[in-house]
Amino acid sequence: MNYRPVIGLEIHVELKTETKMFCSCSAAFGEEPNSSCCPVCLGLPGSLPVINRKALELGVKAARALNCTVEANSRFDRKNYFYPDLPKAYQISQYDIPLGHSGYLEVEPLTGKPIGIQRCHLEEEAGKLLHHGGSLLEAEYSLVDYNRAGIPLLEIVTAPDLISGDEAYCFLNELRLLLLYNRISDCRMEEGSLRCDANISLSPVNSNSWGNKVEIKNLNSFKAVKAALEFEAARQEEVLSRRGEVLQETRHWDENQRKTFSLRGKEEAADYRYFPEPDVPPLQLDGIWIQKVEDSLAETPAERRRRYREQYGLKEGEADLLVAHPSLADFFDRAAIKYKGYRQLFNWISGEITRIARQKNISPEVLDSGALVETLQLMDEGSINRGTARKVLEEALVEGKNPAELALDKGMEQITDTGALGELVDEVLRDNPRAVGDYLEGKKKAGNFLLGQVMSRTRGKADPSVVKEILEEQVHPRKR
Ligand SMILES: [Zn+2]
Repeated sequence: MNYRPVIGLEIHVELKTETKMFCSCSAAFGEEPNSSCCPVCLGLPGSLPVINRKALELGVKAARALNCTVEANSRFDRKNYFYPDLPKAYQISQYDIPLGHSGYLEVEPLTGKPIGIQRCHLEEEAGKLLHHGGSLLEAEYSLVDYNRAGIPLLEIVTAPDLISGDEAYCFLNELRLLLLYNRISDCRMEEGSLRCDANISLSPVNSNSWGNKVEIKNLNSFKAVKAALEFEAARQEEVLSRRGEVLQETRHWDENQRKTFSLRGKEEAADYRYFPEPDVPPLQLDGIWIQKVEDSLAETPAERRRRYREQYGLKEGEADLLVAHPSLADFFDRAAIKYKGYRQLFNWISGEITRIARQKNISPEVLDSGALVETLQLMDEGSINRGTARKVLEEALVEGKNPAELALDKGMEQITDTGALGELVDEVLRDNPRAVGDYLEGKKKAGNFLLGQVMSRTRGKADPSVVKEILEEQVHPRKR
């Protein structure tokens, strides 16, 4: 019997706000432990939460970006449970009326296949436990940091529309880009600002029945999601093929062993005793405000790729590469207003700009696109050659100098005077009779050697194509 995987994802993204969901504590990452806390996020008696307007706006923005219906009258609920990282012993979340529901995301790499979004809702983050000397059960002692407690989260739940680890991977990448371009979240998995759990069951082909569902946790990268789902599909198929039973359970992905392990067996649906949050009034969102938020949506990654292909004539792979790196894509957009050689622009951005950003550890977001445009114009005019252009560009970007002045100051302007070049070529030919002989016998290496000699005597300032022409002109009459 053949089976097909039925996969759904549950994603938590941290919203890009300055402050927490219900208080004015900083939401910045990496602060001194327990320095961003107050009576509200610690749940001290008498404190009252107030909704962060920016978090609500980003939630609505995400909901609309995911084509969800936005509930104008939703509300917050208390999810009660006890755990040391939860100072209030409840989490403020949304339960039966989520902020957004019934949406979808078209994933272009899956040829536009729409993946259903069941719901997206706002909630607050818990604190962070640090176990010393092993895991929770083995640890000598544990410390708790409440800086994270109360940071705004959006939980996104997909429909079980995905059928492979690869599809899940593509979906997550597209979702990440959508959130990045809309500045909804930083989506940094390494800092925990994007987390994902995956559900998978196998269903016999040509049947509507689903097998028991397994939830996979501890997925620390999109690649881990893909690998864990592929492992789990194969494991479940093997169990079913020998007429075994796949247990409904939560499994843990072990990155080193590249396997999933049973974490806890079949459990009753936990009773969180949800009830409407009495301290936060129900939401009543104004239709005009929702529309305003919707109007501020950025173009989707798919629209951007299309624009790069159709408007700028980039190839599919080139458009994909730019869109996969929002800071490079934005840099391209800024430069393309002033420079029409789009292919040239792409090549320099994917090459030099990427290299400089990486080596100097500067985000392309803050690099001056004007410096690249001016450098390329100097090169197009023939004032500098490609090698010089690279040096000028780097200095202009890193030190904030003007490319034209740099080219002049450093005497970097290209030698285009054919008379002066002619004399240099003549010198080189006289000094290297053996190479000339070899070249005339058709040895290509000798030609490159002679060209190199001329270039080094101009200290790289000559245009190699002009030197080549002069070399050709002068070398052949020497044939006896
Ligand atoms: Zn606080």
